[in-house]
Amino acid sequence: MDASIESRVGREVEAWLRWVPRWRPGTHRARSRLCQQCFGSPVLKAAGLDTDVPHAVQHPLSMRVKTLIEDEVETYTAQNLPMLHRELGLIELRRAAQAYHPLEGLGPEFDGIELDPPPSEPDSPYLFTFEEFVQPLSADDPELVPPPLSIEEKASLRVEMRLADDYALIVGRRVCAVLAGHKDELQNAIARFVEPQVQALLADLGSTLDPHSR
Ligand SMILES: [Zn+2]
Repeated sequence: MDASIESRVGREVEAWLRWVPRWRPGTHRARSRLCQQCFGSPVLKAAGLDTDVPHAVQHPLSMRVKTLIEDEVETYTAQNLPMLHRELGLIELRRAAQAYHPLEGLGPEFDGIELDPPPSEPDSPYLFTFEEFVQPLSADDPELVPPPLSIEEKASLRVEMRLADDYALIVGRRVCAVLAGHKDELQNAIARFVEPQVQALLADLGSTLDPHSR
């Protein structure tokens, strides 16, 4: 696991480093809620991006690492946890039976970002929200609704879920350790491409607020 995680983290860091020079402030609407993926994230802390970095800059790295960890756990599950693997496969089939997934297949820069207006704006002139396009899971197809699990099956499923959680923790810790080794290059990129834009924005704001500069 170690060697593959190290090289995968390296690739995600490289991809993020290639993206950062293109970042511009204000390309994303301000969020109405804290991002569950980024707020208090041990991944961002390990990367040294947890403070004084705009969320739109943090988020792509969080999502890349999240996907990496999920992939590793998925591979482990497929190889070692047959019951959980089967259950997850069924959930995936049910999802696939839905016709349209408006929030899937977006780039990591948008993944997990709220694309819809906040619910507190009922009179806003939006024609539609993405949420309206998400269809409920269909329970009609008998193939997608297998017979209920026995007590023993449920018990072993619970054991497998715990094993998957444990594995996710191990991978997460390993990823954080590897990320800590990339801290310098990540922070250099922030200092070079992000910080000057943030400072310029603050200076702009200062001169707008200061009546003497007009
Ligand atoms: Zn986020």
